Amino acid sequence: VDLPIHDAVLGHAAEFGDLPALVDGTDGTTLTYEQVDRFHRRIAAALAEAGVRKGDVLALHSPNTVAFPTAFYAATRAGATVTTVHPLATAEEFAKQLGDSAARWIVTVSPLLETARRAAELAGGVEEIFVCDSASGHRSLIDMLACAAPEPQIAIDPVEDVAALPYSSGTTGVPKGVMLTHRQIATNLAQLEPAITAGPGDRILAVLPFFHIYGLTALMNAPLRRGATVVVLPRFDLQTFLAAIQNHRITGLYVAPPIVLALAKHPAVAQYDLSSLRYVISAAAPLDAGLAAAACSARLNLPPVGQAYGMTELSPGTHVVPLAAMREAPAGTVGKLIAGTEMRIVSLDDPDKDLGVGETGEILIRGPQIMKGYLGRPDATAAMIDGDGWLHTGDIGRVDDGGWLFVVDRVKELIKYKGFQVAPAELEALLLTHPGIADAAVIGEYNDDGNEVPHAYVVRQPTAPDLAEGEVAMYVAERVAPYKRVRLVTFIDTVPRAASGKILRRELRDRP
Ligand code: ATP
Ligand code: MG
Repeated sequence: VDLPIHDAVLGHAAEFGDLPALVDGTDGTTLTYEQVDRFHRRIAAALAEAGVRKGDVLALHSPNTVAFPTAFYAATRAGATVTTVHPLATAEEFAKQLGDSAARWIVTVSPLLETARRAAELAGGVEEIFVCDSASGHRSLIDMLACAAPEPQIAIDPVEDVAALPYSSGTTGVPKGVMLTHRQIATNLAQLEPAITAGPGDRILAVLPFFHIYGLTALMNAPLRRGATVVVLPRFDLQTFLAAIQNHRITGLYVAPPIVLALAKHPAVAQYDLSSLRYVISAAAPLDAGLAAAACSARLNLPPVGQAYGMTELSPGTHVVPLAAMREAPAGTVGKLIAGTEMRIVSLDDPDKDLGVGETGEILIRGPQIMKGYLGRPDATAAMIDGDGWLHTGDIGRVDDGGWLFVVDRVKELIKYKGFQVAPAELEALLLTHPGIADAAVIGEYNDDGNEVPHAYVVRQPTAPDLAEGEVAMYVAERVAPYKRVRLVTFIDTVPRAASGKILRRELRDRP
């Protein structure tokens, strides 16, 4: 565990030699383990020669490509801290991240070069922009492979040095830079490994973005550490995704709830052979048990959908349903606590009061994978991690007598209706069981009487163009206690979501 992240992941690369490490899911371009190992060392040397020094922040700005991991490990081997950037960020958003992290270097791809240039101009302080593929006027990682300089020997302290600086998703506020040390990331990899073993011959589909901590861990670090093959897709498109599972005989899938929704509801799914799949894991947002069951119905011949739970600040995972327990785990659980980690469930009204089995409260976590802190925000860090080292997740959950955790929703999203609490996730799950509803999101909104009430934003199925507001409200009213009724219904074209699959309720609130 006490290795820099590039060694923790690629330490066994020589063993895996000619096995395919990364395959481009669209054009088949393949990198072997030997190549990833050799290439990242060469590029690290070139980065050092270009002036990258230990502790410099390097912004990695790229969709999922086969080159992404090589660029990441090259940068950390050169001693840099990598801040991963959303490939769809605007120049202004990117510039904010560059400024906040005081980044000195950018690695981008040629289709995004203009955005990177403008962001660097706006932020200032960037020494050089490198491009993964070749592009005019900039050094490319491909040219760097010819670098003759010796490999840099940077003394990295895994305990103190920050390997990755992902920004939290910004679902509930401004995105904050989360400092994760080499040890924190490597520790969490080791903690999750006994639950989900991958190895040579396993083929994992990387459809969620590497730039988000979930993709960075589950789709990049974990499989590459074990000799599995990562098949890379640059974005989610249902048909391409299904074709990739079929054509590449994918064995393991990590997804977010919107993809489970597509698997459960989209007719196209039945036209593909998905029989190679051994497991499907969903994380990043609440997944309803009924939806998970619908996705793996007999029609689809899919394995059960298991869940994992975590957050950027936890490097990121704390709970997962072990592969060996996928079939017997209770429906709806996000899994069991991983080794070397402690959890408490405390009262929402009194954080000093511990709750027992079956009682619902805030989830607190303590363990070696807790972030070093938010970059430059000691107050925000102190608000999150208390004096005894407990991280207050802001999520609500309960544990059953078998130790399985169930996540209800976020504390901040709870709708307080006349003293009762309503979890949007529960209403969203119920709405999705209506055959005429393709997608749904619920937020709390104040009505004329000053009560906070659930407001449902609903996407109609193409087959149900006449679905009316009243019918939606009635459907919910017939199935829930009166205080949970949806009081407002608005039809929309799509539910706004972050790249990680989370509903952006803020955008619904800001609608005119
Ligand atoms: P920000 O903190 O900037 O508002 P964020 O919390 O959405 O953004 P992430 O760190 O990407 O950023 O997400 C972590 C959150 O995702 C958790 O706190 C939790 O609310 C949610 N989450 C993760 N896994 C699950 C799961 N299996 N079920 C329910 N919620 C989940
Ligand atoms: Mg958060």
